[in-house]
Parts: sequence; C-alpha cells; structure tokens
Amino acid sequence: PVDRSPEIQEARLKLPILAEEQVVMEAVRENPCVVICGETGSGKTTQVPQFLYEAGYASGGGIIGITEPRRVAAVSMSHRVAKEMNLPTQVVSYQIRYEGNVTSDTKIKFMTDGVLLKEIQKDFLLQRYSVIIIDEAHERSVYTDILIGLLSRIVPLRNKVRHTLPLKLLIMSATLRVEDFTDNQKLFKTPPPVIKVDARQFPVTVHFNKRTPLEDYTGEAFHKTCKIHRMLPPGGILVFLTGQAEVHSLCRRLRNAFPFRKSTEGEEEADTSEAMRKFKKAKQKKTMSLPRIDLDNYSALPVDEGDEDREAGIEDEDDGGSDIDLGDDPTDGETKADPSIPLYVLPLYSLLAPEQQAKVFRPPPPGTRLCVIATNVAETSLTIPGIKYVVDCGRVKKRFYDRVTGVSSFKVTWTSQASANQRAGRAGRTEPGHCYRLYSSAVFGDFSLFSEAEITRRPVEDLVLQMKDLNIEKVVNFPFPTPPSAEALAAAEQLLVSLGALEEPPVKAMQRARLTCPITPLGRAMASFPVAPRYAKMLALGKQQDCLPYVIAVVAAMTVREIFEDLDRPARSEDENSKLTQRRARLAQMRRLWAGQGASLLLGDLMVMLGAVGACEFAGCTPKFCEDNGLRYKAMVEIKRLRGQLTNAVNAVCPEVSVFVDPKMTPPTELQVVCLRQIVLAGLGDHLARRVQAEDILDPKWKNGYKTPLMDDPVFIHPNSALFKTLPDFVVYQEIMETTKMYMRGVSAVEAEWVP
Ligand code: ADP
Ligand code: MG
Repeated sequence: PVDRSPEIQEARLKLPILAEEQVVMEAVRENPCVVICGETGSGKTTQVPQFLYEAGYASGGGIIGITEPRRVAAVSMSHRVAKEMNLPTQVVSYQIRYEGNVTSDTKIKFMTDGVLLKEIQKDFLLQRYSVIIIDEAHERSVYTDILIGLLSRIVPLRNKVRHTLPLKLLIMSATLRVEDFTDNQKLFKTPPPVIKVDARQFPVTVHFNKRTPLEDYTGEAFHKTCKIHRMLPPGGILVFLTGQAEVHSLCRRLRNAFPFRKSTEGEEEADTSEAMRKFKKAKQKKTMSLPRIDLDNYSALPVDEGDEDREAGIEDEDDGGSDIDLGDDPTDGETKADPSIPLYVLPLYSLLAPEQQAKVFRPPPPGTRLCVIATNVAETSLTIPGIKYVVDCGRVKKRFYDRVTGVSSFKVTWTSQASANQRAGRAGRTEPGHCYRLYSSAVFGDFSLFSEAEITRRPVEDLVLQMKDLNIEKVVNFPFPTPPSAEALAAAEQLLVSLGALEEPPVKAMQRARLTCPITPLGRAMASFPVAPRYAKMLALGKQQDCLPYVIAVVAAMTVREIFEDLDRPARSEDENSKLTQRRARLAQMRRLWAGQGASLLLGDLMVMLGAVGACEFAGCTPKFCEDNGLRYKAMVEIKRLRGQLTNAVNAVCPEVSVFVDPKMTPPTELQVVCLRQIVLAGLGDHLARRVQAEDILDPKWKNGYKTPLMDDPVFIHPNSALFKTLPDFVVYQEIMETTKMYMRGVSAVEAEWVP
C-alpha cells in the first residue's frame, strides 16, 4: 500500500491517466507488450510506474525499470515519483551514466536508455526486472530504438524460459505515431495493443505570424514576449528557441526590459540603473495607453483539430483579434494584464545545472509572471506548471553528420509539424492557452509531418559493436523500428574491423555483402567501456609505458561536450565586453600553459585537455577554479565522474594494471607523450589529415589548409588550437565541425613515419 499525502492524491486524481488505470493494468496482465499514447502531461511517466508498483510488479522478485532518453528526465522523474509515493530514494531511484542512487532496496528504477543497454550486455534476459517501460518512445532516440528491437526478442525468451518471471514491456509515447512499433512484423508478430489516454487538453489557439523572420527570430521572440506580458492576462509564458546561447541572450534582454529583483538571492543579472530607467520609462508609456483586449474574440481551436480552419482563418484572426498589434491602437479600457508585474525569467536547456532546472517546477515568486526560455527539452519530457502562452520560433538545432565526409555541423532547421504541435500543446495544460508561432501558416504547411528517427542521422559504429558483443552477428537482420541505411552499417563494420574489434573477413567483398564479421576478444574488451569504439580502442592500448591514467583522462575529456566556456560569444554591453576580453586572454594564456612545451606540444589539443583536467583536479575541481580559468564547471564534473568510471572499467577488464585516479597526476614524460600520440593515432587512424603542400595550393584560401582523403576542399586548424602556429605536416583530429569554415577539433600531431 502506498501512503500518499492528501495534496499529492488530489493532484494525481486530476491526471487523465488515472482514469485508465484499470485498462492499462488489464492490458499489461494479458499482453507481453503494451503501447500507451498520451499527451505530454497526462501522467504517463509519473503514474504508470506507480500503477505497476501497486499491482505488485515490484514485489515478486523483480523490479520496475523505466528508461528515459534524457538524463534530466531520469533524475527529476525519480525524485518526483519518490515524493508522490512517499518513499525514500533508496526505493525509487535513478541511474544515469555517471551516477545514481540505486540500492538493493530499489523497486522502481529510472535510468537513461544507454544504461539499460549496458545492462543487457551483462544479463541478456534482464532477470532483475519484471517490467521495462520505454518512455518517450516518440523521440526515437537511437538507444530507444535499439532497446525496443532487443526487448522484442527478450520478452518472448523470458516468457519461454522456465523458472524465470515473465517480463512485461510497456512503450510510452506522447504522440499517436507508433506504427513503426506496432505495424512492424519484424518487431512484433502480434501487434501490441495501443492504449490511448485522452488528455484533458484545454483548447489552445494558434496564432501564426503573417511574415516569417528569416534571421532574427530571437528578436521577434523578444518582442512577442514583451507584448504578451504587457497586454495579456496572467499566465506563464514558455518560449522555444534552439540553443543555449539564444536562451541566455533572450533571458538577458527580458530581464533588462522587465527587471525582477529579489534582495536575498542574487539573480544572474546585476542591477543597472540603465535597466531601471528603461523600466520606469516603459511603465509610464504603458499607463498612458492601456489597450483593450477582448478575450472572447479569440478563436478556440484545439491544436489537433480544424487544420483547414487554421490554414484559412487564423491569419485574419491575427488581424481582427489584434492580440499583438494593439500597441498602435490605444483605446482606453480595461485589461487584466498588469505591465508593472515583474517578469520572472528562467532559462531551461539540457546542459543547465539541475538545481537551476528545478526552479521551473516551483511556483514563481508571488506577484511575478513566470517566463521560461527553453530549448526543445521542454517540448515533451518536462511539464512546466502554469504555462498559458507559448512562443514558438519553429526551429530546432540539430547535429548533422555527413556520412561520406564525416563532417559534423550543428544546424538550425525548421522543426516538424508534430513537434510544433507538441510545443503548442504546452499552453493548454491548466486552462485554455495561446500559442504564437513566429512563422506563417504557409511555412508551417511546408514543415515535414514528423521528425526523423535519430538512427538515420548519425554514425552507428557504437551500436554495431554493442550488438556484436550481444552476439548479434548479422546486424542487418536486427529488428530495428527504423533500420539505418545499409551504407551506414557497412561503414560501421569497416571501421570496427580497422580498429581490430571485429575479425577481418577473408574476402573484402564478403564483408560488404553480408556484414557478418564476428567480434574479437579486443572487441569484447572495447564493448565493455562506456565510450565510442575509437576511444575504447585507446583505452585498450593504454597499458604501454604506464600511460593508462593519461589515456583515461584524455578519453574522458574528449567524450564530454565542450570543456571550455564559450567566450567567443558577442557581448551585450561595454561592461560585459571588457570582462569577456579579459577572460578570453586568461583562457588563451591557460591554454598555452596546459599545452606544455617541447615534446608535449605535439599532443596538441589533447595535451591542452589533459593539462586542464589535471590542473582542475589538482585544484579540487571547484566552480571557482573553472570560472577563473575558462572551463565549464559542469563539463569538468562530468569528466571527473567519467574518469572514475573508466578507471573501474579498465580495472575490471584488466585487473593486473590496477590503475587509480590520482588527483595529483604529474604531467606525462617525453616518452609517454610519444606513446600517447601513437595511441591516439590508433583510435583516430582514419581521421588523418595532411598539410596542403605549397605546390598544391590552388586557391589562396587553401593556405595552411589540410587535405583529408574524403574531401576535395581542405580543412583547417582553428585559431584556438594548440597547433595553430605549429602546423605539423600530419595530424589526426577528433572530428570536423563546419562553422564559419571547415575546422578540425581535437587535433594532435602525427610523425610522417607512423603514417601507414
Ligand atoms: P507525461 O509523462 O504524460 O508527460 P508526467 O507524468 O511527466 O506526464 O506529468 C504529470 C504531471 O505531474 C504534470 O502535469 C506535472 O504538472 C506534474 N509533475 C511532473 N513532475 C513534476 C515536478 N517535478 N514537480 C511538480 N509537478 C510535477
Ligand atoms: Mg513523460
């Protein structure tokens, strides 16, 4: 029996999924696999694990496991469910890549999908679990897709093998688009039942812009948010932008426009008399001309209905309803909006520190309006209470990967219609809401209907290695919900053969035709490291010359996103500009210091990472050290955890090396630097680039460029790189990132005689 507090009990009863408890539990009892579809906020993530718990699924010798594609969700949902059930975190726990609070008493375990995949490697039948819930399946993250494929095999096995508990599988999705799971004979011979939860979604009126700003959608979002705040009745505002930098820039602008200051807790933005002056001025102006708003004039089309109406009518409505252009038409009258109310502006994105993220769930300070500026993390996985207005820029930042050249880039593109509708839906959770789309209905009509599955957009060598380690030899035959392309699979297999993780096939052609190279013992060791195969190979070679502690530190640094702070961003004020200039100079100085001298210089950017990790650890890995030296604190904490984890993994594979994390690691010797460079080459051997020879410079722009085997145009060493001045003849790089130019990241020098 679960002992919930009366408030929790009351809040639960309002959730649409509660009405379906019996239906869900009956379906689970009678089917090995069940699909649940329900709008974001209908209670899937927080309630379904509780249904299962109360029905005894965690008391018969197995526990309940829930996977999330994002770490944020795994952590925050485990806390939420523990709180709702009035159970300690030893019982309702989480496990993510670096950390967790799982104990032997854990009954409900939230984890990232990657964590469960690793567990399948250790125990293919997942015997600790009686139920696995795959949450947010609509996101179609690579690991989610693979897990569903694997579980489609594990579930029948578990139900066949005697003396084991049966295993139940639940797939939960925020959209109804689940045919890839249900109408897929390869996956489930009998299509699983789909339970639809009718969310009590209040109508959301969608307002399209007449024009679509092509560039400055952040500016447009700013104006729209200001107008909403000045003119529309109370209710939280949620703005969707594409990335962290945009989020911060808009937060800053809004805080300046509508200052909110709490005397005790120093909010990020310092008080400036300029902002105060503007604020007073704005206040005066507004009291002069309070516009009249007739809320009855709004259309009330639910998001998913009346598409034709929307196409045909909304733009007119924008004119007539004049929700936004009222400023020009100062009629006196009443409005429920009070422009002197401060705006309580909060950022939300996945790299944000958890305690900052948690702020969005708490009620805003009394007398303020909540305004959350978010990336698409707020689209489905987290439900922010009290949102009435959504401002949607219609774009999303995605990583693109060119399979032929291996070039990665982050591009901002239009989102899909499904995502845009998810975003709009965020406005109608507690009362009727409004969604302002910063693009025209014609542009919306050109969006793709759905976002594509991630597996079709990225390299798959890590997945192929994991599958081979699970003894799935013919990866092409794997029941993927959406299969990756045959070329992507072939490329992965080829890379794994060259890394020595798979056996070289006797005939090259056979490898391409069948993709059935078996895994080698080295491949098994590599598969046990929680990093991509290239880095796993480096770890496997690290024993030489006592290099392991360095290899572990470098690999940890290479696999964590962006260890340096982004100081190249444009400054918003004079003051900020001079601060940024100072910090840039400091970081440049530190980079030179960390790059070392003489032989170590040739390890290049990887030496800088090693130096930074060593120095940060030596200083106790404090926020202050990071702040002072241009390091991202969150990244450094992740590296610290990953170092610990990789050290354990290496010791497990190879107990005789007995490595440990030394907080006072001395810099590598000259001999060790050479060894490290060779180890790095072994992992990045296909990422080799040669300086363009003088006689081959066909275009003045090619000066100082590097030639790679797969591209006609040269690539470059970034001015921030430790090797920018050295320009060695041969280098290996971690990846090529296209920004203003084709830049190599993570560059290290290679001796000509090492090149095969
Ligand atoms: P779904 O998974 O269907 O999107 P959830 O189970 O995540 O829905 O959320 C159900 C409700 O629980 C949400 O409407 C939200 O208001 C509430 N909720 C979720 N997490 C928290 C939290 N950390 N604090 C307060 N309320 C929360
Ligand atoms: Mg959910």
